[in-house]
Amino acid sequence: MPQEHSSHCPLHTSTAGEIINIISTETLTKRYRRDLGIDISLELSNAKTLVLHQCPLCKLQFFTPAKEGSSEFYQQMKQLPWYYPNTKFEYNSAAEWLKNTTTVLDIGCGDGRFANHLPQCSYTGLEPYSVEKRPLPNQHNIIYQSLNDHAHRHTEHYEAVCAFQVLEHVKNPALFIGDALKCLQPGGLLILGVPNADSYLSRLVNFTLNAPPHHLSWWQKETFQHWAKAFTLKTLALQQSPVEDWEKRLYWMANATHFLSPGSTPHFSDKHHWQIISTIAYISAGLLQYLPIKKSATGSTLLWVAQKQAS
Ligand SMILES: [Zn+2]
Repeated sequence: MPQEHSSHCPLHTSTAGEIINIISTETLTKRYRRDLGIDISLELSNAKTLVLHQCPLCKLQFFTPAKEGSSEFYQQMKQLPWYYPNTKFEYNSAAEWLKNTTTVLDIGCGDGRFANHLPQCSYTGLEPYSVEKRPLPNQHNIIYQSLNDHAHRHTEHYEAVCAFQVLEHVKNPALFIGDALKCLQPGGLLILGVPNADSYLSRLVNFTLNAPPHHLSWWQKETFQHWAKAFTLKTLALQQSPVEDWEKRLYWMANATHFLSPGSTPHFSDKHHWQIISTIAYISAGLLQYLPIKKSATGSTLLWVAQKQAS
């Protein structure tokens, strides 16, 4: 069975994921249109439902079918004025780890803005997903090429390989990490930033952006510990971001949802009851967002820093 339809964990390929949630693609398509003005009707392989699974071994949560968003989908997403993820926490934290590094590969680099945080580095941006496919303007040494091709041509070339807010978009994260590691010198650092499933994000109900064709997998600290073992990597850090200003309303929306319905919360539900709760939570969060947030509260980003072992 192709990976896209497999209900088995992309890493633990002989282990079936447990079903967490079943989502009607018809409802999801309506939500994308209503919430974001985006048409996903041609994106999901004509599937009637999407299934969210959880691997019992590594706790990775992943959707089937795992269909990546098309160029047209991302072209629409990029039109949204707020679309580019806020990567301040990741960039600052990663730059600290890379202070003594000279060669860095940034996969899914966008316009290469991470290069501005690494003045001492020889920076290479890799953009396998760009819809534009044109290398201009290219002040940051951006290459337009697939990761697999790049890994074959630059095997063990870099001292560090980074990818920020990319892993959750790819249909086979195990292949992605394998190729990323191929680019890395023994002893080099792999730094991956993802949305943190162990945060308020997983308490939001019907959060469209966290579903396919946008996000295909959800990651938490425990998952990376299992993946580190499988790829013989040494985890140096698993850093959770604080709640930043731009996400305060979402944070309070999740808290208000929990307050209004303290039991377990479905990630996605068609029930009218949840639509009402989400609407009240959204309105309440508009006021609550001005309250102070305790420093220990967990924000939406998780940064994994791991070291490739000498072969
Ligand atoms: Zn697994």
